[in-house]
Amino acid sequence: MSHHHKHRQSPSTEQPSQANDFDLIIVGGGLTGSALAVALADTSLRIALVDAHAPSRPPEWPAQWDNRVYAISPGSADLLAQIGCWGHLTNDRLQRVAQMVVSGDSGGVINFSAFDIGTEELAWIVESSEMACELWTTVSRQRNVTCFCPASPVRLQVGDAVAELTLEGGQVLRGKLVVGADGRESWVRQQMGLSSQHDPYNELGVVANFRTELSHFGTAYQWFRADGVLAYLPLAGGAGDDHGKMISMVWSAPEALARELLALPAEELAFRVANAGENKLGQLELMAPAAGFPLKLVRVPQVVAPRVALIGDAAHGIHPLTGHGVNLGFQDVRVLADVIRTARPVDDLGDMRLLSRYQRARREEVVMLQSITDAMRKLFASNAPGLSVLRNVGLSLTDKLTPLKSMLIRYALER
Ligand SMILES: Cc1cc2nc3c(=O)[nH]c(=O)nc-3n(C[C@H](O)[C@H](O)[C@H](O)COP(=O)(O)OP(=O)(O)OC[C@H]3O[C@@H](n4cnc5c(N)ncnc54)[C@H](O)[C@@H]3O)c2cc1C
Repeated sequence: MSHHHKHRQSPSTEQPSQANDFDLIIVGGGLTGSALAVALADTSLRIALVDAHAPSRPPEWPAQWDNRVYAISPGSADLLAQIGCWGHLTNDRLQRVAQMVVSGDSGGVINFSAFDIGTEELAWIVESSEMACELWTTVSRQRNVTCFCPASPVRLQVGDAVAELTLEGGQVLRGKLVVGADGRESWVRQQMGLSSQHDPYNELGVVANFRTELSHFGTAYQWFRADGVLAYLPLAGGAGDDHGKMISMVWSAPEALARELLALPAEELAFRVANAGENKLGQLELMAPAAGFPLKLVRVPQVVAPRVALIGDAAHGIHPLTGHGVNLGFQDVRVLADVIRTARPVDDLGDMRLLSRYQRARREEVVMLQSITDAMRKLFASNAPGLSVLRNVGLSLTDKLTPLKSMLIRYALER
């Protein structure tokens, strides 16, 4: 068993290579990769972070808002607070979700309220780039992290004592453990031959931000429609009388409809989205062009291999309708950081016994949420006669069954 704090060779001969010796190499400095590095800031671990490009805010920030926003669960917000990041997020870019209204396509409705269960918020709506830039800034100042950016890996070799990662320019990084935080099409996963099962939904998530006529009052709306799942997420923006009059829309739509929506002129798109959302917030005005991204279910049965662990989208892809995507990734970070921290100095961080602890701790939740989300998505996407009635009755019943509802909320809050 090797010790991960050795490497005290003679400086004259070993210096050049020693500079490339790490305990941990993280490939991917997106939300999960950089959060993991930050979570290990107060350890003596030497960390390398490799990414092809640094995150950036929208070009006309702060006037412009990112199209990509997340519903951050209280559990993820806690993690970000513990690692010292939450408090640095720009306060007036954070929106509490006090209430959620979920509607079926023929009248079924469930209301979730933070008040009902004695909390202040069900979730926070935060821009992706706001979090990514904050985490990246922290990482780039972190004493025990060396950032390799822009850099891309070209080769990964796992040996008995160490893994070697070769970068495009020929530089070789050595580490006890390589973490793949490199997203849905993970290069690390492919290099290791870790299998992944891809199930495209033949849908695009169409995202766009709008100004609204009426205030959202911290309410998030979701509609299960015959033509996909539409969500209005409240944004914190808007000054004076316009405060509370901005939303971010996510419409998970069948590909043909999604392409049609993306091709619409601004006013027509706004009109369609307002109508699809029962004009709940009055008229809408598009703030910047919409974007679409393909949705798929990605199952990864093994997320660890000797000297390798996958986190975030590299480890699981999930339909966005239950808003778990990035929250699952942050929980991976929490668990893997704990496993790494509680390792004794004599432990080898790349040891399968250690890594299996991470895999075991995460598997159940990931598999369960993927199945529930997938089943919900299929139920609502189905056109079979009777199903529409069933899902709407189901929604209304759920609203009345308070214990079940509060269980659903608690479950969502713990994430
Ligand atoms: C347009 C869009 C909208 C989304 N909207 C939502 C949403 O509303 N809610 C939600 O929960 N989720 C959403 N998602 C999913 C969400 O973005 C992911 O769950 C989350 O970003 C996963 O974080 P991650 O750190 O695992 O991976 P990523 O954010 O994908 O980060 C991967 C990082 O690795 C780097 N990288 C990848 N490959 C290499 C390589 N070979 N070499 C060097 N660097 C590499 C990339 O540059 C990137 O920085 C959306 C995704 C997209 C694309």
